[in-house]
Amino acid sequence: WGGLTAGAWQYIGRQGVLAGTYELFGAIARTDFGAAPGEEAGALAGRWVLTAGLGGMGSSQPISARMLGLSSLTAEVDAAKAERLLAAGGLDLVTDALDQALATLDAARSGGRTIAVGLIANAADVFAEVARRGIVPDIVTDQTAAHDARYGYLPSGYDLAAWRELRETDPSRVERDARASIAAQVGAMLALVEAGAVAFENGNNLRVQAIEHFGEAAAADVNRIPGFMEAYLRPLFARGIGPFRWVALSGSTDDQDVLDDLAVRLFPGRPEIARWIGLAREHVPQQGLPARSCWLGHGERSAFAVATNELVADGSLSAPVLFSRDHLDSAAMTHPRIGTEGMRDGSDGVSDFPLLDGLLLAATGADLVAI
Ligand code: NAD
Repeated sequence: WGGLTAGAWQYIGRQGVLAGTYELFGAIARTDFGAAPGEEAGALAGRWVLTAGLGGMGSSQPISARMLGLSSLTAEVDAAKAERLLAAGGLDLVTDALDQALATLDAARSGGRTIAVGLIANAADVFAEVARRGIVPDIVTDQTAAHDARYGYLPSGYDLAAWRELRETDPSRVERDARASIAAQVGAMLALVEAGAVAFENGNNLRVQAIEHFGEAAAADVNRIPGFMEAYLRPLFARGIGPFRWVALSGSTDDQDVLDDLAVRLFPGRPEIARWIGLAREHVPQQGLPARSCWLGHGERSAFAVATNELVADGSLSAPVLFSRDHLDSAAMTHPRIGTEGMRDGSDGVSDFPLLDGLLLAATGADLVAI
């Protein structure tokens, strides 16, 4: 399975995935809910997302949603994961009762508040029950580790202890049951789409697992749920906009502030940049050297780098700054279910995009290119 994790030499903790998920919800606000750039939070106010999985990547979902005023209900089978996120401030409430979760969500939204609820339950059961009750979230997705039917997705009806044992003693049964549950969850997502929800797959191969269970004949139906990259991020990549990151090598948060201020004032034509920087300053904890992930576009990256050089030269910054391009950026990954799904020229499975990309980067002066 093609992972999307940054190499250790450019790993900046949780911020990378937080920024990516934030951009994703922002793109949905513009694409599906008519938001003008910079006004995404207004279009998402009062809305909610139904999702699942509070693991390493999935735990960014409620935080990114909250940054945009989007409430969330996230199903997670492992209570320890939800409690950990609650303690870190990423959730407002953890419960194992669907009724309480829905009532709290409703009360907050009708009171004009944004809320992040963690529900200790199996996503397959929760999604099916929400659909059965005719409750329609504005957005529905999932970030369990569904790509791995043996270790990544708890089948419905299993408890955690039995799952951990059975996947060693009877792995094919676990895989079969996981795919059946994923298929049930995808079925519920399709019913919610029918009822008006916006659905997408968030890079975890959910649809392929469902198709393996249902059979190839179901592919057209399942594929009504688009992948996040094709539907929301590639249109940004096509404009050269993608995750760009900088690290203050001095280790000084004063330098971080100078760089944040620079990003805020340099791009008045794209108010969404200043908005992200303001939110990141407030919500993103520092992990390691002071760093920022910020989605800048063609021309903007160069402008930012040149302005940074000037600030190093005039002493406003106390040390040089490292720039790096994120692994999630355009042409950085070939995967017919992620990076290159639904290419207009049919080249979904052609594997040389990252190689061409790497050659181009090397030829245009990057110091370090990892393929
Ligand atoms: P993880 O293993 O850390 O977390 C998965 C979580 O799902 C766990 O907490 C697990 O308890 C929970 N879970 C499993 N089955 C469940 C069920 N039936 N109902 C509810 N909760 C359940 O994985 P991760 O690092 O958070 O990654 C999640 C997925 O996202 C992976 O498939 C990964 O490949 C994908 N991913 C996508 C992107 C992206 O850019 N969209 C980036 C990185 C990873």
